[in-house]
Amino acid sequence: MTQDLRFPARSYDFTPYVPCHNWIGGEWTPSAAGDSLPIGNPRHGKAFGQVTMSAAADVARAVTAARAAFPGWRDTPIKERVQVLFRLKALLERDLEELAWLISHENGKVIGEARADVLKGIECLEYGISLQNMIAGEQMDVSRGINCSVTHEPLGVCAGIVPFNFPVMVPLWMLPQALVAGNTFILKPSELVPYGAMKLADLLREAGLPAGVFNTVNGGQAAVEAIADHPDIKAVGFVGSTRVAKAVYTRGAAAGKRALCLGGAKNHLLVVPDADLELTSTTVVASAYGCAGQRCMAASLMVAIGDVQPIVDAVVVQAKKLRLGEDMGPVISAAAVERIHNYIADAERRGARVLLDGRGAVAPGGAGHWVGPTILDHVSPDMPAGCEEIFGPVLSIIRARTVDEAIAIENASPYGNAASIFTQSGAVARYCIERFEAGMCGVNIGVPVPREPFHFGGWNQSLFGAGDMTGWDGLRFWTRPRKLTTRWQLSKDATWMS
Ligand code: NAD
Repeated sequence: MTQDLRFPARSYDFTPYVPCHNWIGGEWTPSAAGDSLPIGNPRHGKAFGQVTMSAAADVARAVTAARAAFPGWRDTPIKERVQVLFRLKALLERDLEELAWLISHENGKVIGEARADVLKGIECLEYGISLQNMIAGEQMDVSRGINCSVTHEPLGVCAGIVPFNFPVMVPLWMLPQALVAGNTFILKPSELVPYGAMKLADLLREAGLPAGVFNTVNGGQAAVEAIADHPDIKAVGFVGSTRVAKAVYTRGAAAGKRALCLGGAKNHLLVVPDADLELTSTTVVASAYGCAGQRCMAASLMVAIGDVQPIVDAVVVQAKKLRLGEDMGPVISAAAVERIHNYIADAERRGARVLLDGRGAVAPGGAGHWVGPTILDHVSPDMPAGCEEIFGPVLSIIRARTVDEAIAIENASPYGNAASIFTQSGAVARYCIERFEAGMCGVNIGVPVPREPFHFGGWNQSLFGAGDMTGWDGLRFWTRPRKLTTRWQLSKDATWMS
């Protein structure tokens, strides 16, 4: 089935879109059962599209298409494979504004954040493209006349399952490495935000990717479980909540596939009295409230060590200034609003002080899924607001007397995505970094995302599997090393040699 995919999005108003079907073997395909779900705009809650909800039969159809496309793509020289991604980069840049509006529509991000989603995705793509110069493999003569070499071979059909919070960037954490390496791919976008991935599929088609090399299967739990179970999918990358990451990791491994599953987070920012007031307060606010707190790298917990009251006061002042709809968007759904409200009410009941209350926030227009910036002070580490992922614009502050006490609080978290220390002392910074139980650490940084070429991934309950998702680790995940040992010895019979 062909569809006109010119998205009419140039305003936040109600604009009905084409239905978001599955992209399988170069065709837009409704699910076999014909199920679908409405897609709403979190800014005003109105539906503007609908997404196909798939089940095992749809996954099987995508696997058939991806399997059929695999030999041709595997045998395409890498220098030709990357040309498709070079063209994709140019197309993403051409359609940056359209994509940003699309993401803003389905996810609710403010336009600058939506643009950043695409731009960061492009950065990942650039790294993937550069792999053509780094994937050459290794070889060495290990004995007289005997050589060992290693090449990075594709796995076959691979799959990626992604969350709602970065509709374009997170797929681009996986796709460049997987495709450059010669795999074919099935993407399962979040059913809450399927249009960014739909546009990505269309741009890959325009970039000249052969049919079946990239496919999308939309849906929720049923589609995910079918991917985890399918014996012909060799690897699955997952990004989402810890509960589902663990389930996909376990189920995928039981079906014999390799799995790398990134989960949720509770990121601690430690602030000591010698921290720079201006830098710390602006950075904490940007980290806590960017993307309405819906980032796995958001600073959801500030551990205020000793007397840092002036910094706490400055955080409150700056958070109050954030304008809803301009500086900060809505959260994804009515269910998210309810969940976040419950965390705030629970903390209040348990004795936390609500320094800034985002409940009842009203954005221009009145409707939609809004929570204003919220600050909870004197939270204790055992309150749900002190140890669970809220995934909304809520900053919990825990007071600690010493750095060691603060580190013990950070270490006790089951998660381990990110942790940062705010100080002007290199010695204090080093002391903390060496002790944090987190895969991504920062010094005076609110969102310590390791940009390309470094790789992205947390520790503990924030990541299940070996290695990280992006960078060189990404290539390692989507490939298998072929070790070759050769001996070439001149035959005594070859009298014609000399
Ligand atoms: P989610 O776990 O609800 O959904 C992620 C994916 O899993 C989606 O595609 C969804 O359709 C699917 N899914 C949902 N419930 C399922 C179930 N019961 N069984 C099988 N599949 C299911 O996550 P979300 O709400 O979309 O995203 C927010 C979460 O993602 C947060 O916890 C956030 O920290 C995390 N996240 C982590 C990273 C990271 O790098 N560690 C990055 C982005 C987001």
